[in-house]
This record gives sequence, structure tokens and C-alpha cells, in this order.
Amino acid sequence: MTVRAEEVSHWFGQLFGDGVEVPRRPSLGADREADVCIVGAGYTGLWTAYYLRQLAPELEVVLLEAEVAGFGASGRNGGAVIAQMNGSREYWRGRGGADGALALERALQATVDEIGAVTASEGIECDFAKNGVTICARTELELQRLRESVAADHRAGFGDADARILDREETLERIAVAGALGARFSPHCASMHPGKLVRGLAEAVERAGATIYEGTRVTAVEPHLARTLRGNVSARYVVRATEAYSEGVDGYGRQLVPVHTSMLATAPIEAALWEQLRWGGREALLAEHPFLHLQHTADGRITIGGDDNRVPYHWGSRVKALGAAPERVAAMYHGELLRLFPALREVPIEHTWQGVFGAPRNWAPSVGVERGSGLAWAGGYVGEGVAPSNLAARALCDLLLERETEPARLPLVVTAPGRRWEPEPLRMVGAGAVWSMRSLGERLERRNDRASRTLELGNRLAGYGGHLG
Ligand SMILES: Cc1cc2nc3c(=O)[nH]c(=O)nc-3n(C[C@H](O)[C@H](O)[C@H](O)COP(=O)(O)OP(=O)(O)OC[C@H]3O[C@@H](n4cnc5c(N)ncnc54)[C@H](O)[C@@H]3O)c2cc1C
Repeated sequence: MTVRAEEVSHWFGQLFGDGVEVPRRPSLGADREADVCIVGAGYTGLWTAYYLRQLAPELEVVLLEAEVAGFGASGRNGGAVIAQMNGSREYWRGRGGADGALALERALQATVDEIGAVTASEGIECDFAKNGVTICARTELELQRLRESVAADHRAGFGDADARILDREETLERIAVAGALGARFSPHCASMHPGKLVRGLAEAVERAGATIYEGTRVTAVEPHLARTLRGNVSARYVVRATEAYSEGVDGYGRQLVPVHTSMLATAPIEAALWEQLRWGGREALLAEHPFLHLQHTADGRITIGGDDNRVPYHWGSRVKALGAAPERVAAMYHGELLRLFPALREVPIEHTWQGVFGAPRNWAPSVGVERGSGLAWAGGYVGEGVAPSNLAARALCDLLLERETEPARLPLVVTAPGRRWEPEPLRMVGAGAVWSMRSLGERLERRNDRASRTLELGNRLAGYGGHLG
């Protein structure tokens, strides 16, 4: 199957041109051997290959990609390189103690700079700008939650340099969000062009000496073997980096569920309008009710995405995420954008697209290597995987190379894959019920400005426990 650039995302459309087929690298043509075979050429697979070849250039590293590098969430995301990871602080403390959880948070913060440093040294021009992240509050409840989150960060060992509350005036000076009451600001975030990052990284991986086969779908992962219809790869280690698309790999269908989401990009916004919005620094912007993430792109647009107003799951964990966002979803995001910035009324939406991220049963990412079978994996980032995938890849490389390093000791590392999702039809029924409760709860909170029990229950039933950072 060929892939047209704009069907993947605005980012791919910009890179290759709308209507243009994304160029494809050669596919695997016969059986072959390698030291490490990585399935999936998104950030996880590519960073793993990159660091492996840096640390052990003698290793033969092969990547097998069903479509083209960056076809998954890595070529479609919002571009926030944010020091956040799914799983609450309590969850990570349960896995690694207070010191382990703190080390993980510090490692995530350092990962933002690591990505900036490697993209600079490899000449990957991806509009990387580390200007932090502002989470704005438009209700008293949201503001109260932001205050509590900063207080909790301070109790955990962080200071004002990591996260602080901005009052209403400071917030409006930075970004003129309509109805803002205050905000939380953290410097540990960069904004970038996801398409440029993933495609540039694929080239850096090839320069480092690994081989990427595209149009090569892996049908099964077995001990020391990846099977495809075009030949098999035998390797000492086979790494699963398939994230939301794992359903297609025999035996892994219930490890991660694909959660569908969409995004929009405006046309370029004129300088006079940017002055009204302020938002000069290209810092990432997050908002709540519903959850929204926005980028001020290097070419002067705004992109927006977040929680959709539809059940984001399809029967049997099928992925249906090619082409424009469903009309109802696009209209909802556009409405939310205008609620944040009414001055954008006349600015057209130029592009909408869809994507999927992978959610494990406990909503927390993991990295693991099973020595006997040679099966390894990294992923399960839910919606926060840009920075975590780099950290997970470094942890995975150190495990594969048996290096006793800080990343290999982080609580991200587990010894066996986690609990699987329920079989169908439970999965479909559960997704529908939980999603309805969550969206009803969000609407109630927005209307009443009071914490909603329905939302809390929906989160508890899903097993969702918040995030770190
Ligand atoms: C719309 C959207 C917005 C997001 N915004 C942000 C954000 O702003 N910040 C943030 O931190 N995170 C964000 N995320 C999450 C983040 O993009 C992902 O967590 C991250 O890109 C995951 O990278 P990955 O390499 O693990 O998975 P993917 O990028 O999904 O890569 C998996 C790859 O595996 C390939 N594959 C799958 N199955 C097979 C198979 N059987 N054989 C061969 N190849 C296969 C796929 O084609 C794909 O290329 C967002 C996600 C989405 C969808």
C-alpha cells in the first residue's frame, strides 16, 4: 500500500507535499540474520537503533517497518517534548521507591535536553525550541488543581525552577488565553516539528549503520525470530516497538489498546494577530475540560489536539486513523480553539488528521528484555511518548548490552510484560462505558466548577492514575 503524505499528518504534508506519495525504502527481500531486529520505525524503534549503533557499532541492527518510518504516532503528534510520563507518582514510587521515582522524573527532564543535543549534533532540523510549557486554568477548580500539583512537586524535591504558579496577569502577559485565571509553568518542555524529527532520525539511524526495511509488516514475533511475508529475520534480540499497532503482531493483541485522537492545524497567523495572542515564545500550551494540547509552530500556525468527543476505540483493537479527522471531532477542536482565542475567528483550519497512541492495562510505560527468548519491548506511553520514548530506548539499549547504567535501573524497567486487556466483547463494552463516564464527568466539572465523582469513577474503572511531571 502506498501512503499519501497528507493522509498521515499536516507534518508529513509539509515535508513531502499534499497528494505526494511518501517515498519508501526497500522492503525485506529474503531471510536474513542480525544481532538485533527492531519491529517498528517510530521514535522508540529509531532511538533504540540509534543508541545501539552508537554504543556498539559492531552490532548488525535491522528495523522492520510495516509502512514508512514515522507512519505511526511519531509522525502525527503534537510536538511537545515534555518531561511527563504516564503513571502517577505513587505508582512509580511503588515500583522504585521515592528515590527511583525522583530519578525517573529527573531523567525525563534531562531527556528534553538530550533530544535537543542529539538533533543538533546530527543536524536534524526539526524546529526544536525549549521554551517550556504553560498549563492554563480557566476555572477555580483547575487553578486549585494546578496549585496542588506544584505543591506536590515541591514536596517531592523539586523547586520553583521546575514548576511554579503564574498569577492571572503573568499568564495573560505570556499567552492571552480568554478567561485565564492563572497557570502552571515548567521549563522542562520543548516544541518541535514531529515529521522533521522522525524522518531526520531515520536518516541518522542509517548514517549510524543500521538498515531500515519499509513496507515490511511483521506478522509474528517469536523467540529470536521476526516473521514477515517477505522473509524472516533471525536475531539474538527481537524488539517490539509497535505501540498502538501491536494488535497486528501475533500474540500481542491484548498488550496495548489503540486510543484514537485527532489534530488540526490553522493556516499561518498574521503577525498583528500573534501580537494580540502574545504567545511569543513558542512554549507549549495545555488546557483542561476537555484536555487540549497546542503548539505555536515555527511557521506561525497553531496546532491543537487532545481528548476527542467520541469513543476513541474500535472493536478488536483495530486502528482506523488515516486521513482527515471526523467532522464532529474537527468541529469540537475548532470550537475549543476559539474558546481559548476568540480572535482567531477568521483564521481558517488548513489541515486535520488522526493518530493513535498505545495504552497498556496499567496506563504506565515499560521496558523489558527476556534473556532466554531474546524478546524485548519498550512502549505503552499513552499520550505522552515523545520524551519518554527516547529515555525508554536508552534504558533498553543498556539492558540489551548488559550495561549497568542509571537508565537501566529506572523503575521503567520490568521483568515481564504487564497484565493484558480484557478480551472482546468486554474491551469494547468497557471502553464505551468508561469513555461515556469520563466525558460526562468532564462536562459536569466544566459546568459546576467542582470535582466530579463520575470522572473519578471512570478513571478508576479504566485503571488510569494520572502522570508524573
Ligand atoms: C495525535 C497525537 C498527538 C500526540 N501528541 C504528543 C505530544 O505532543 N507529546 C508527547 O509526548 N506525546 C504525544 N503523543 C504520543 C507520542 O506521539 C507517542 O507516544 C510516540 O510517538 C510513540 O512512538 P513509538 O515509536 O513507540 O510508536 P509509533 O510512532 O506509533 O510507531 C510504531 C511503528 O510501528 C510500526 N508497526 C506497527 N506494527 C507493525 C508490524 N506488525 N510490523 C512492522 N511495523 C509495525 C507502525 O507502522 C509505526 O510506524 C501523541 C500521539 C498522537 C497520536
